[in-house]
Amino acid sequence: MRYPANAARPDERKDCAIGQRTWPDRLGRVTQADGLAHRLAARTLALVDVPSPSRHEARLAERVAREVSLELVFRDEGALLYATSRRSGRPLVLLAGHLDTVPAQGNIPGRIENGAVWGLGASDMKGGLAVMLELAATLPAEPALDVAFLFFAREELPAEESALPAVFAGAPLVDEAELVIVLEPTDNAIQVGCLGNLNATLTFTGVSAHSARPWLGVNAVALAVDGLAPIVRLPPREVEVAGLCFKEVVTVTGIEGGIAANVVPDRVTCRLNYRYAPDRSPAEAENELRKLVGGEGTLVLDSNSPPAHVVADSALLERLCASGGFAVEPKQAWTPVAEFAARGLDAVNLGPGAPRWAHTRDEQVEAAALARTYEALRRFLTDERGGTHGSPTNPLLEADAPGPRCGCAGRSPAPPKESAQAATELVTAFRVSAGKKG
Ligand SMILES: [Zn+2]
Repeated sequence: MRYPANAARPDERKDCAIGQRTWPDRLGRVTQADGLAHRLAARTLALVDVPSPSRHEARLAERVAREVSLELVFRDEGALLYATSRRSGRPLVLLAGHLDTVPAQGNIPGRIENGAVWGLGASDMKGGLAVMLELAATLPAEPALDVAFLFFAREELPAEESALPAVFAGAPLVDEAELVIVLEPTDNAIQVGCLGNLNATLTFTGVSAHSARPWLGVNAVALAVDGLAPIVRLPPREVEVAGLCFKEVVTVTGIEGGIAANVVPDRVTCRLNYRYAPDRSPAEAENELRKLVGGEGTLVLDSNSPPAHVVADSALLERLCASGGFAVEPKQAWTPVAEFAARGLDAVNLGPGAPRWAHTRDEQVEAAALARTYEALRRFLTDERGGTHGSPTNPLLEADAPGPRCGCAGRSPAPPKESAQAATELVTAFRVSAGKKG
């Protein structure tokens, strides 16, 4: 169901406030008791309805510029960076989100139905952007942590087109961040580390001949079948890094060869994609792929995006876990956290969207998931109590005191001191989960 054509969009209505009895029926499961979820859903829908496929993010960037009233620290054609005032002794947390989406699949404009926002980019990642905008609008004047908000373009394109190098060059503030949280869809789990991503071309060269007399030539397809056999049969390598299990895989993602039905082909070209674990450097990954290919064919490396280190021993990450009762998972893919990690920054993914909906025609994000991310991040940034999950009284100031600790990076949790219910929730936070979709 969509909002009726004659109804103003919720974000355009001044009376769309928390707890207000406005449109609960159109939000399905969301009632007026879920005013926050309602408002975040409305924000997300408004963002979905501003088309922003990669390289066409300008209108959405303008909307962000109109909405955020914090100090603008940096702006270029590909990014906007805002921040609260820097205070000495306060860690800086950077929240980051990309403005672009993949191309539309008949899924724009969006709609709200059954407690979820449906439409292009709802999950990846306009729901995350809505949470960022809501936080930027509602943070107290003196949050417990210093906070920066980075909105950037062209994330859905090859890494060579990334908008982030220009941000790193023009905004030294980014390098001050003690934790970067990218609000990509993670189903409200904290995903740490990420795989490296190496693309290569493997070419097999034979000798062409008439297909009636193949013994006069050398069939490049036959060479490819033999040469690829050890690669396609290679099982995933499971790699434990800081207690999290990554799966390293090589996939043949393309193969081309042959020019006619009566010609023995003299050339077959294959594309290889190697997703390698964070325990390898890019150079080690290249050597590993050369070893795997052996002397078969000619291997040319096309691109190699480094992995991201697994954030460990971070008091801020532990505090983030405790703020939302979040599970911690390995990121079984490549994401821009690697670009922050390459600067030496600790970066993780945490967002309300679900990976299973990203880039799909039925893309959606649940309003309740938006509210959960918002509430947890707000607790994390402000130290305010409230919501459904317990949080340490002031973990920033009590970093060395005994108390709730999460199981990030395989650390063993200490028992929480709070109520039985909070204890149960925190036990969930301590669990290091490796089984969810990512
Ligand atoms: Zn994304």
